[in-house]
Amino acid sequence: MDIILLGPPGAGKGTQASLLKDEHGMVQLSTGDMLRAAVNAGTEVGLKAKALMEAGELVPDEVVSGIIGDKLDELGSEQGVIFDGYPRTAAQAESLDEILAERGRVLSYVIELSVDEDALVERITGRFTCAKCGEGYHDIFKQPAVAGVCDVCGSTEFKRRPDDNEETVRTRMQEYRAKTAPILPIYEARGIVRKVDGMGSMADVHEAIEAVLSL
Ligand code: ADP
Ligand code: ADP
Ligand code: ZN
Repeated sequence: MDIILLGPPGAGKGTQASLLKDEHGMVQLSTGDMLRAAVNAGTEVGLKAKALMEAGELVPDEVVSGIIGDKLDELGSEQGVIFDGYPRTAAQAESLDEILAERGRVLSYVIELSVDEDALVERITGRFTCAKCGEGYHDIFKQPAVAGVCDVCGSTEFKRRPDDNEETVRTRMQEYRAKTAPILPIYEARGIVRKVDGMGSMADVHEAIEAVLSL
């Protein structure tokens, strides 16, 4: 089963994808994570993406669709994929249809995570991750059990994203409203959109998604 997690920046897509990955063996494909890795590695893709990401603007469609196709080729057909942060434009949604069809894969659901704008800003400005394993945390909503020590890998180094500041967040929200939200009707017409209230706790949202997926 392949699904898309769709929602504005900070809605909880990465958090929910990670829970589905851990509990149900699904594979999380996050274009944001892949692009950040490319920027850090200084690859050609990274060089194209860096300034756009820092400004909160979208990276060109061909660049992201290319990396998604490559990643899918590394997976077995039996592994369910969670698309996290992709597609983000109508052109990407079209590419995804082709990419999936070429590989005999079927998109089962688009989970639309809805969260109030005030809560989004609060979630984004408090977000940090483990520098070693990438586990996600939050200043208020998810502190490590032992202060300063990653629950998962024990590392004591954490990092914050340079684009998680209020000004860039505003641009990212605008990009979402202008380019990403308008792709929902494409999937609504196919009857595969399921709206999930993202305002509850991480566990509540996870349960609601499991109910939709009958997991
Ligand atoms: P996205 O991938 O959609 O940008 P994340 O999953 O990274 O969002 O979540 C953004 C921040 O909000 C993270 O710091 C995360 O720990 C926190 N968070 C995620 N889901 C919830 C929730 N349901 N309640 C409170 N905080 C949350
Ligand atoms: P969030 O879920 O918090 O908005 P992401 O990690 O998904 O953040 O994305 C961070 C940045 O990476 C985006 O602001 C954009 O510049 C770039 N990006 C990620 N995914 C895509 C995509 N599918 N298309 C274009 N740009 C993308
Ligand atoms: Zn860790």
